[in-house]
Amino acid sequence: MKNVNNILTLALSKGRIFKETIPFLTDAGVIIHDDPETSRKLILNTNNPKLRLIIVRASDVPTYVQYGAADFGIAGKDVLLEHESYPSGTLYQPIDLNIAKCKLAVAVKNGFNYHEMVKQGARLRVATKYTKSAREHFAKKGVYIDLIKLYGSMELAPLVGLADAIVDLVSTGNTLKANNLIEVEEIMTVSSRLVVNRASLKNNEKHLRPFLEVFAKATI
Ligand code: AMP
Repeated sequence: MKNVNNILTLALSKGRIFKETIPFLTDAGVIIHDDPETSRKLILNTNNPKLRLIIVRASDVPTYVQYGAADFGIAGKDVLLEHESYPSGTLYQPIDLNIAKCKLAVAVKNGFNYHEMVKQGARLRVATKYTKSAREHFAKKGVYIDLIKLYGSMELAPLVGLADAIVDLVSTGNTLKANNLIEVEEIMTVSSRLVVNRASLKNNEKHLRPFLEVFAKATI
């Protein structure tokens, strides 16, 4: 897809990623006039006529970047690992921004003896949005599972007998606690990464470079 008038497009999701990206943009002299939490606009212009932001669902960020509808974007490692074409092809090597940190973990209902069940070779029903990461994790452990794909509120699944365990993001642990669940295994730590469309980097490097440099500071 051809870039319109050399305007760079950065794809972001609302919430924590947006909030934690602002300091990088401020460092690059960028001011955003709208607040995505209150505005219904999906395209946000900035004080820099060469940069605009698009607000998309977190799991759609890699897709916008992959097809070149966004030149670059910020998405969690969890999202990138689930994305079909990652890590090959159209997305340029991600830069770890060390923001929106959390972990991907296995959790069960308080009282469910997960480790004993695993030791006994029981077949577990696992509900998650993160099917790729969950499948890989349990395959590595040699645990047989039936995966149940959910799109949200994973915490409910063990409470109503849909699943024995869930694989979900845990940040403070408050959501697990509030739902009488406990974390039994950490799968990986998660932070957000900058992904860049390969063609944009090639064709638009001059414009992209100053932004990439500001983001690259996060890795130092
Ligand atoms: P917490 O109660 O702070 O442990 O947060 C857990 C809830 O927030 C779960 O429903 C997670 O799916 C969600 N969550 C936590 N961290 C993130 C993140 N970095 N990105 C998206 N969702 C998250």
